Amino acid sequence: MAQVQRMSQLMIKTLRDDPADAETLSHKLLVRAGYVRRTSAGIWSWLPLGKRVLDNISRIVREEMDAIGAQEVLLPALLPKEPYQESGRWEEYGDLLFRLQDRKGADYLLGPTHEEIFTLVVKDQCTSYKDLPVMLYQIQTKYRDEARPRSGVLRGREFQMKDSYSFDVSDEGLEESYRLHREAYQKIFARLGLDYRIVSAVSGAMGGSASEEFLAPAAAGEDTFADCPHCDYAANTEAVTFALTPAEGEHGAVEELDTPDTPTIETLAEHLGVPAAATLKNLLVKVDGEIVAVGVPGNREVDLGKLGEHLAPAEVELVTAEDFVGREDLVRGYVGPQGLEKVRYLADPRVAPGTAWITGANKEGKHAKNVVAGRDFEVDEYVDVVVVEEGDPCPQCGTGLVLDRAIEIGHIFQLGRKYADTFQLDVLGKEGKPVRVTMGSYGIGVSRAVAALAEQSADGQGLCWPREVAPAEVHVVAAGKALQTELALEVGERLGAAGLRVLVDDRAGVSPGVKFTDAELIGVPTILVAGRRSAEGIVELKDRRTGEREELTVEEAVGRLTA
Ligand code: ATP
Ligand code: MG
Repeated sequence: MAQVQRMSQLMIKTLRDDPADAETLSHKLLVRAGYVRRTSAGIWSWLPLGKRVLDNISRIVREEMDAIGAQEVLLPALLPKEPYQESGRWEEYGDLLFRLQDRKGADYLLGPTHEEIFTLVVKDQCTSYKDLPVMLYQIQTKYRDEARPRSGVLRGREFQMKDSYSFDVSDEGLEESYRLHREAYQKIFARLGLDYRIVSAVSGAMGGSASEEFLAPAAAGEDTFADCPHCDYAANTEAVTFALTPAEGEHGAVEELDTPDTPTIETLAEHLGVPAAATLKNLLVKVDGEIVAVGVPGNREVDLGKLGEHLAPAEVELVTAEDFVGREDLVRGYVGPQGLEKVRYLADPRVAPGTAWITGANKEGKHAKNVVAGRDFEVDEYVDVVVVEEGDPCPQCGTGLVLDRAIEIGHIFQLGRKYADTFQLDVLGKEGKPVRVTMGSYGIGVSRAVAALAEQSADGQGLCWPREVAPAEVHVVAAGKALQTELALEVGERLGAAGLRVLVDDRAGVSPGVKFTDAELIGVPTILVAGRRSAEGIVELKDRRTGEREELTVEEAVGRLTA
């Protein structure tokens, strides 16, 4: 796109109405303002203005990646099956992977992320410790057959990602590469003008900073993160843990209660007049065909996604009526852990040793009270799988956590030797012996960042870009006929000559009203209007964000904008 782009020559068709299928603000506005068009579900075409924004983001990402010494490469998106089969991801990815075959019937995939291929490239290129550390990156199209490709470019099935990979001989080296990426990401997102938080993406139990996400708070976000209002703790709710604290105190013997027709926690709590939190809910699931029970307080929900992650790569399903056939030990609706000898029992840390519960008595219509963890039943494994709720205690300081919605825009990850082990990636060490390489992987959703920025900066009138990513820095509007158009073009040329990226609305036969509406919708941060006082050489300068406007001479306006 030229430095000075005339709208009369720009392919753009803005829309007055929101597209019918759009749910999120960024989706609606990016379509209405003519940045993107849907080609198929989760597959998007980038039109001139959208491509500009995408390129601006890519440029910033490139500059900051180059600044930490990462080298840009471009690997294929069309990949052979074998490396993904060796790593296990050909199976693990399941339906998320786009798979295809060539004319000979050989299997291929469209790359969802490239750890395997980068490992092989480095194995081919680097043989000595002297060749390391090395950091490689690419900005490339990725493919994932997402289950719910909604929200426009926020979650595409085809999307742009910057992915980078670090290769080091030592753990300290990996930590340094990780730190460099973390800092580069902070610079990138600051330059993009994104409001973001760095949150822990792994549970505390798995250790520190091995994986962090960069989240952009926004209502349209599909991630929820927990934020401590008191200390520096912030984590994806998928990673929040609850401390296991054994309880003290005496409890009477187990007592059976008559509780007819109370197969659910709600009916039970009402029948007994106790809070749901006093009851123990035992959820039964099938893990690779075997029945497993998960105990959580009756007022809490089990997050099946978290449970699945915890038990991965096993397949987790809910039990059905059929699974109870022939299982006298499992009384549907009245299960209690004190009678579950043949079933593996997982529990939330709130079901700590010494806590007493009202739970199923393993008999139809009966429950039991004073059922004490560690005394009347054993927990095989404690797992953090309840849905985190607002007010849950901060794992670091105990203050009630606040929950917020956000968009994951980046993810940094200390992989360690997982892929190096798979592909035997060794280099010759200082002592002449082979050393196994350790890796990190780091992603930024470049196309998703466009949507995240749109979400965070838009208002009732339309988009509103930060200057560095905007498709132009100044939008000059000719609000009138020949005279105004002449002045607008002249000012546009002067600004362009001074190095600014300018959009000039010189369209003939389009009313000033429509031009103003379009300018607000397109969201260039500064709008300059050549209007009623053009004959006197006076223009109006308007800040898209604040709406502040000022009349200035052309000289003053040009001086101000090029200062
Ligand atoms: P999500 O949880 O949103 O599906 P992810 O954790 O699977 O994302 P990563 O594998 O960490 O994603 O990919 C790196 C980055 O690529 C993400 O942080 C995100 O910004 C971006 N990204 C991932 N999936 C998509 C998608 N379907 N559309 C657009 N961007 C995506
Ligand atoms: Mg991620």
